[in-house]
Amino acid sequence: MAQELGRPFIDMDSRIEERRGQSIKEIFASCGQAAFRRWEKEEAARCGIEQGAVIATGGGVVLDAGNVQALKANGYLVFLDRLPKAIMDNSSITERPLLAAGQESLAQLALERRPLYLATADEVLPVAANFKDSLNPLLALAQGATCRGFAVIGDPIGHSLSPLLHRAVFKALNIDIPYNALRIPQGYLKEFIRGVRGGVLQGFTVTIPHKREILPFLDEVRGGAALCGAVNTVMRDKGRLIGYNTDMEGLLLALKRQGYSYAGQNVLILGAGGAAAGVAYKAGASGARVTVLARRAGQAAALSPNFGELNSENLSRESPKADILINATPLGMKDFGADFPDLSFLANLPAGALVCDLVYNPAATSLLKEAARLGLAVMNGMEMLIWQAILAEQIFVGLDKFDFAYEIMQKAISK
Ligand code: NAP
Repeated sequence: MAQELGRPFIDMDSRIEERRGQSIKEIFASCGQAAFRRWEKEEAARCGIEQGAVIATGGGVVLDAGNVQALKANGYLVFLDRLPKAIMDNSSITERPLLAAGQESLAQLALERRPLYLATADEVLPVAANFKDSLNPLLALAQGATCRGFAVIGDPIGHSLSPLLHRAVFKALNIDIPYNALRIPQGYLKEFIRGVRGGVLQGFTVTIPHKREILPFLDEVRGGAALCGAVNTVMRDKGRLIGYNTDMEGLLLALKRQGYSYAGQNVLILGAGGAAAGVAYKAGASGARVTVLARRAGQAAALSPNFGELNSENLSRESPKADILINATPLGMKDFGADFPDLSFLANLPAGALVCDLVYNPAATSLLKEAARLGLAVMNGMEMLIWQAILAEQIFVGLDKFDFAYEIMQKAISK
């Protein structure tokens, strides 16, 4: 957990052992439990004034109300709720003096302490068979609660260039605000937003897979975001979380700068997720005839009356009509682990067609490489990324120097 959050880790019992030069077992044997509890109290007071650390405590720490008060004054108390059998299966636990008698002593301790754990914890976290998965809700909550400034959230997030772009502009404008990348796995937006509401994060951008799922967690959704049902930018305004969509306008600006427009064009969109929703809405509203193919045809149907399943038969049938083909799936994206199984449909596109991949990492996906090999015009997601980021900064910090920000972001990427 400390590793994932990039925070220091403190094990209170290990600290006591280091200070006394004895193991907990030896302390109990030579000095008794009362002495241990005294030293534990001193350690709890020290830990209570630590900033930003993840602290593991011994189970007896809650027996003293003063310890609980010290740890909670500056922190968040979490009870990792594990079945007694799972605790006993952890071989090192029998090293603990109060558990030396095995199952019976554990049952006695559970009886005595469990009500205290439940009463004092800010959060009770059931521990599943896979301990790492059990930490996901807590990680999401902690990231929302402790992150400062601005951030991008998504999963996977390692590939995201958003921190690089936003930090470069903040630096150039002498804005001293951090911009972080937070991995929030699918299904943990609820915890993340709960953390954000109690924390100090000013705003964040939203990427795969949360653009649609985030809507019910916001207080208000504005403009195109409300119309297409996808949010990629969230700003805190007087304690309320407001959702926007800068993706749709970002792609339009990117296309325009390359000399393309949607008006009168046949636009074939692959995928029907958050990015596709914004793009399909904007293209349709700008006069394009939009067709959407997605692996779940029902999702595609929500974006356009012309829809179908994303399969080779439909791709081959729709490609000859397409002036602009837009990949709005993560196929081919770094760290995603899947790519288009077959690119033969590209040969059916008209000679003047543009193949646009919203994926920007890698810069040349297999889709774009094959399209370029066939002599088609290609565009990756980098220009869109820059423009949606500029529009997000307009919301975040009132940015109005668009060309200046564009140059800064371009430079940051090319380094
Ligand atoms: P999303 O909301 O998760 O939607 C992804 C879409 O792709 C869904 O329709 C999904 O289908 C489909 N999909 C996922 N895996 C697939 C597979 N193996 N085969 C076929 N279809 C698959 O994600 P998103 O936010 O729309 O992002 C989509 C891509 O666009 C990502 O690569 C993202 O990085 C990129 N993007 C780039 C920019 C930019 O500025 N350049 C902006 C936004 C997005 P299901 O619904 O069935 O899962």
